[in-house]
Amino acid sequence: MTGQLYLVSLPIGNLEDITLRAIKTLREVNMIVAEDTRNTRRVLERYHIKTPFSRSYYQGVERKRAEPILSLLKEGKDLALVSDAGTPLISDPGYPLVRATIEAGIPVIPIPGPTAAIAALVASGLPTDHFAFDGTVPCKEGERRAYLEAIREEQRTIILYESPHRLLTTLKEIAKVLPERRVVLARELTKIYEEFLRGSASEILQTLDARSEIKGECVLLIEGEKGLARKTEPHNVKEAVSLLKKEGISNRTAMKILMCCLDLPRNEAYRLIHAD
Ligand code: SAM
Repeated sequence: MTGQLYLVSLPIGNLEDITLRAIKTLREVNMIVAEDTRNTRRVLERYHIKTPFSRSYYQGVERKRAEPILSLLKEGKDLALVSDAGTPLISDPGYPLVRATIEAGIPVIPIPGPTAAIAALVASGLPTDHFAFDGTVPCKEGERRAYLEAIREEQRTIILYESPHRLLTTLKEIAKVLPERRVVLARELTKIYEEFLRGSASEILQTLDARSEIKGECVLLIEGEKGLARKTEPHNVKEAVSLLKKEGISNRTAMKILMCCLDLPRNEAYRLIHAD
């Protein structure tokens, strides 16, 4: 019998953000495959977990180390893959290992928990019904500009991981390319100095300008292009609703039409259909 590979999410700052199942799994597996054992040790000590580490698994050795880890799984060892913070594989190592494990027919089991992207999104105040996580913003000036130009038409909320050193440069670029968009900076999530700054990129820049330095981990969110829903004149939408009713279309189908064809959010479609 082979072992199983568990993908265990760890806290993104506050050590209490760990699930009971994550603690149980980390205690019960034969070995923990960590990105950096020094960082993971803090969590293990906090929860008195004594499971040994296998060799570290970090960016740069991902392909090379996948094979020996796979051998352990084939020998029947249960392993937990963890990254320094949050969910493994989300801007963190693990993808080649997961692919290889699946291809070998060995079970891969997620143990869900914190991830900075989702924590930032849900408290951002930006639409959460459709979103895209784009990882980190390209570092090179030309590539960064091209990326921002490319997302001009994107209707989903964009989530980006950004370093505090590049934050001002990126915000300045967003202010030039997407000046009207609502932007949210989520900083130091779950930690003592957790902060959300909301506004246009220029407004956030103004707030940050007053500070001597910007520290901590950051998630940047950019509102999507408003799209058809808000471009559609309200009286046209009302006309569409009354036509659907006249034709005897059921409320359920009318909702679907408004959501799919006019891109209205579910609650807005519901409100319009149930209005007198
Ligand atoms: N695997 C992690 C996750 O699930 O969110 C992400 C790891 S990635 C290497 C690190 C980046 O995630 C940071 O540079 C920052 O952009 C974001 N991040 C991680 N923890 C954060 C926190 N507590 N507050 C804000 N951003 C955070």
